[in-house]
Amino acid sequence: MTNTAYIALGANLGDPAATVRAAFGALANMTESRVVHSSSLYRTAPVGITEQPEFVNAVAQIETGLAPEALLDALLDIEHRFGRVRAERNGPRTLDLDILLYNDQLIDLPRLTLPHPRLHLRAFVLQPLAEIAPNLVIPGRGSVAAWLPAVANQGIVRL
Ligand code: ATP
Ligand code: CA
Ligand code: CA
Repeated sequence: MTNTAYIALGANLGDPAATVRAAFGALANMTESRVVHSSSLYRTAPVGITEQPEFVNAVAQIETGLAPEALLDALLDIEHRFGRVRAERNGPRTLDLDILLYNDQLIDLPRLTLPHPRLHLRAFVLQPLAEIAPNLVIPGRGSVAAWLPAVANQGIVRL
């Protein structure tokens, strides 16, 4: 388990906080992997339409023996398992799992881009990431801390 990866968790259907907490457990159960740090849960303040379901987000730091594409497959499998629970009722998936960073690797494949190309634009990613890894540097982009002020206008509440 010599690789360090950061995973973004997000949910916005059903009981999103319960889903995200359960998803941390699913990450811990992935083969050759363990969760090293779990951020707090965060709620992104609704923008515009206030009746949209609340989003709950968090970030996990994991150690894994899975290669990047195998890790993506494992995450998509977890999404599938969680999404299937409510698929008949609500349609959209209940859980989103993105790989933010994998070591300091730069990857540009059709199905996998690392670092995640939008992570530095999103308060709901940067804030939990800064909580568990304040000194982290996004390869090619600079530190997480340096990007935080740019998203300070995005409402986000730590639960
Ligand atoms: P966003 O990428 O803006 O957060 P999203 O998470 O809603 O959007 P999805 O529909 O969940 O997008 O994912 C679409 C595809 O993105 C996935 O099937 C996967 O192959 C691809 N993908 C590319 N890079 C990554 C990454 N770093 N982590 C997870 N999926 C990725
Ligand atoms: Ca996403
Ligand atoms: Ca995704």
